[in-house]
Amino acid sequence: MTAPDVRGIGVDAATRCAHYASALDVVAIKMSCCATYFACKDCHDALADHSVRPWPREQRSERAVLCGTCRSELTIAQYLASSERCPACGAAFNPGCRAHHHDYFSDD
Ligand SMILES: [Zn+2]
Ligand SMILES: [Zn+2]
Ligand SMILES: [Zn+2]
Repeated sequence: MTAPDVRGIGVDAATRCAHYASALDVVAIKMSCCATYFACKDCHDALADHSVRPWPREQRSERAVLCGTCRSELTIAQYLASSERCPACGAAFNPGCRAHHHDYFSDD
């Protein structure tokens, strides 16, 4: 399986970036505006020439979340249902990410 490229500032092998670099920050998100994986929204803001468009609620079956530990692509629904741990490899995700979910995944 070929893992998708992840864009961002200083992205490492586990998709951590200059903004979120703790051991738990291993999630990359495919942005609905440009269908490209970024390490985080701040990386998108720095590198893309447009603003982030959150995923609409009806697209939660899209594979748009990449676990940087096992490189599995999760659907948005899978990620939101188990967002403190990767359902594929069990890697812990940063619980603080929940505070940013609305930037990526719309409730509408
Ligand atoms: Zn974009
Ligand atoms: Zn970043
Ligand atoms: Zn994983």
